Amino acid sequence: MKYRSTRGNGEAVNAAAAIIRGLASDGGLFVPTEIPHIDAGFIESLVSVDYLSRAKKVLSLFLDDYTDGEIASCVEKAYGNHKFDTDEIAPIKSVADVTVLELWHGPTSAFKDMALQLLPQTMSVALGKTKESHEVLILVATSGDTGKAALAGFADADQIKIMVFYPDGGVSQMQRLQMVTQQGKNVSVVAVRGNFDDAQSGVKKIFGDAEFNEKLGKENFRLSSANSINWGRLVPQIVYYFSAYADMISSGRIKNGDEINFTVPTGNFGNILAGFYAKMMGLPVGRFVCASNENNVLTDFIKSGKYDKNRKFYKTISPSMDILISSNLERLLYHISNDGEKVRGWMESLAKNGCYDCGENIKNKVAKYFWADYADDVKTSETIKEVFDSTGYVLDPHTAVAWHAAHAYMSSTNDARPMVVVSTASPYKFSASVLEALNERVDDDPFAALAALEARNSVPAPKGLASLRGARILHEDICDKDEMENKVFSFVKR
Ligand SMILES: *Cc1c(COP(=O)(O)O)cnc(C)c1O
Repeated sequence: MKYRSTRGNGEAVNAAAAIIRGLASDGGLFVPTEIPHIDAGFIESLVSVDYLSRAKKVLSLFLDDYTDGEIASCVEKAYGNHKFDTDEIAPIKSVADVTVLELWHGPTSAFKDMALQLLPQTMSVALGKTKESHEVLILVATSGDTGKAALAGFADADQIKIMVFYPDGGVSQMQRLQMVTQQGKNVSVVAVRGNFDDAQSGVKKIFGDAEFNEKLGKENFRLSSANSINWGRLVPQIVYYFSAYADMISSGRIKNGDEINFTVPTGNFGNILAGFYAKMMGLPVGRFVCASNENNVLTDFIKSGKYDKNRKFYKTISPSMDILISSNLERLLYHISNDGEKVRGWMESLAKNGCYDCGENIKNKVAKYFWADYADDVKTSETIKEVFDSTGYVLDPHTAVAWHAAHAYMSSTNDARPMVVVSTASPYKFSASVLEALNERVDDDPFAALAALEARNSVPAPKGLASLRGARILHEDICDKDEMENKVFSFVKR
């Protein structure tokens, strides 16, 4: 299977090359040139096997330049060895009138682990396959969760260095601690004075700076990305949509062939887009509900066809969704329009004017598959409290945003198909916000908050978070956004 740029130019490459490069040479994102098709028998074959087997089957459809042995080894290293705190890896739970898909049982307690435990494995294999002689420098801009998950995945990987930029003051205390205590001889973590979009634009600029890339080449480095613009980040996420569907069948909630809906708390549009790939492959999904926080640029886009990032940026209690430029939307627009030239035009308009208008036709096609709503912080907190009071289940703020949007969808459409709410973080990662929502006073110490939440929640706190107490701070670097290139170069020279 070949991968091509969303912007219509550049040559077609196989999966290994797409994963190493991260971004296509014309600035677009790699997309598969054809979508593999599955049938009811394929889904049936997933029902009685474990997550690792499901992952092997789904991944091999897209990574057809990898041998079965290579895929098996990648999957076992990513999801085996009790790196996840449950053998189910991505369990489903019934909570009130919906099914919750828990994607936060990995080592860093957020859904990013689902992809970032696998990406270093598929990238390592790709380096061997393509006989890459350079070292790879992974550059990451993070709104909180990607950074730690990427660090945990790539720490001490051979032939790879990783550098993470996060917005100073723009991540939760726990998220910051997770990153700045990261060990490993190949890792660097730097705070940027600005918000997430500043950090992400800075990283994108470095990728697009030909002269700087040449300079890195002389030091025997090439850049790659662990952000969800990398195809290697998206493809592992397709698996859990299939896995959830298979679990819905095996638990008797549905029959094979029944359609279900998913609500996804969305920022960069990577998670929900993976679900859309599953649907394009033939997974019986009705609608995807795209849930945003007060940074509701996607809600407006899905309702109007107009994307406009020229608006106030809000810091919310769901920081991993504090995003105004949603990179993976570009892939959706490509698949919906099938027109790289058009996508290029929209992206150029976005870069130049901060906005673009897709027109009625595209808007209507998008609306066939997607519905959107958002929750501000007040709504989000109310949702956490209501769900806890009525069920005892503790939602993290991101999942609470999704819960709200799912119920807005169900009540305004009367769509009775089963709803799966995708849960993207352990509530313990955001203990202070969750406790406040539950009307409990919290002091400034994140570990006191963790303990206080644990006293109320029947689910214990993840070990990875509790063990951060007393861990040594290893990364205290901070820079302005126009200093990021310098930071990268001095890390390469180190
Ligand atoms: C990254 C993240 C999201 C947003 O996912 P996208 O793939 O960027 O849309 C939502 N919730 C949490 C907890 C996250 O870490």
